[in-house]
Amino acid sequence: MKIYRDLSPSQRTIMTPGPVEADPRVLRAMSFPILGQFDPEFTDLMNETMEMLRRLFQTGNTWAYPVDGTSRSGIEAVLTSLIEPGDKVLIPIFGRFGHLLTEIAERCGAVVATIETEWGSVFDPEEVIHAIHREKPQIVAMVHGETSTGRMQPLEEIGRACRELDVLLVVDAVATIGGTPVEVDAWMLDAVIGGTQKCLSIPSGMAPVTYNSRAEAKIARRKKIERGLRDPLSKVETDGVAIRSNYLDLSQLQDYWSPARLNHHTEATSMLYALREGLRIVLEEGLEARFARHLLHERALVSGLQGMGLELYGNPACKMPMVTCVSIPDGVDGEAVRSMLLQQFGIEIASSFGPLKGKIWRIGTMGYSCRKRNVLHLLGALEAVLTYVQAPVHASAGVQAALRVYLSEEEGL
Ligand SMILES: *Cc1c(COP(=O)(O)O)cnc(C)c1O
Repeated sequence: MKIYRDLSPSQRTIMTPGPVEADPRVLRAMSFPILGQFDPEFTDLMNETMEMLRRLFQTGNTWAYPVDGTSRSGIEAVLTSLIEPGDKVLIPIFGRFGHLLTEIAERCGAVVATIETEWGSVFDPEEVIHAIHREKPQIVAMVHGETSTGRMQPLEEIGRACRELDVLLVVDAVATIGGTPVEVDAWMLDAVIGGTQKCLSIPSGMAPVTYNSRAEAKIARRKKIERGLRDPLSKVETDGVAIRSNYLDLSQLQDYWSPARLNHHTEATSMLYALREGLRIVLEEGLEARFARHLLHERALVSGLQGMGLELYGNPACKMPMVTCVSIPDGVDGEAVRSMLLQQFGIEIASSFGPLKGKIWRIGTMGYSCRKRNVLHLLGALEAVLTYVQAPVHASAGVQAALRVYLSEEEGL
């Protein structure tokens, strides 16, 4: 009989756009005993998690809670609950995850209109606003931080235009939440999806979402009450088309997260512990300090990469602080370099998708992985590997450049 050895995953330095290293405090939180889902001790933890999520999303929204499933489940829950078949949805695409929004919106029965801009850049907000006037959608769905290209879309003007025109704006902030400002209320975003395994440094498996009363009104119109749970005396009125998913129905999920605690699924106990601990860590550090930390390590990483003579990919004006895309030098086998980094140094960096496959590496500096030790370790290893494969780099100039950034920061220069 085959013997299955004890589980002992290697210690990795994960410098990808997710999943990244989980904070040890989060991993510890996940090992605590299970509580029943209606145990008051557990429902208190649920309520505290909602409070902390509101602070993370910088919102006064009533609704801010996690959907159980990876970030994609949060995206699908929001789109499935908001899009009625036949609704017009405008999706501005500037990378892979814009295509994901399109795919999901089409499955929801939307009439989808897309606009695309070249990968490596983002939209001039005026371009999107112009398309909103032309297409007259009920919903605009777009990505904030496109991890496939490392670009970040400014949303403020688009948010204001959507509000003026009474269009709902749905934003995928999976990769940016907790690493850079995502000001849900100030930017007038109607529904936003965050991610756990990126800048929050929690394992993958939950998707924090928030939405305002404008979004809630649309969801409420589509509310359908499960037969077994319906109070026989109450009349159920639904004037919209019922939401097509049960598991991802935000009207049922919000009833479960409301004081009424109407039973839906069984909350993912250990993931809720993890999310609560991860949020506590974020708020202890402070949002501003956390955003500044992501900028500092980005600066050190970029100086290091450029110091060794590598070129960055994409328009620097709209670069995401937590994802740095590097053009793979001519004649270098990008996958061989990645594999050597992993096998010899225990460091993981990412490749990319579609048109960028084999052209760029993507380096993440997210959450707990975003720290000096990791950045210096990666730069040293990358210099060694690139020297080994005889790529034209200035060996050791990268680490030196990053060190200069750190030392001048520490000396307050
Ligand atoms: C990672 C990511 C997702 C998907 O997240 P999963 O947790 O893998 O479902 C969606 N959108 C963006 C922008 C991402 O970076």
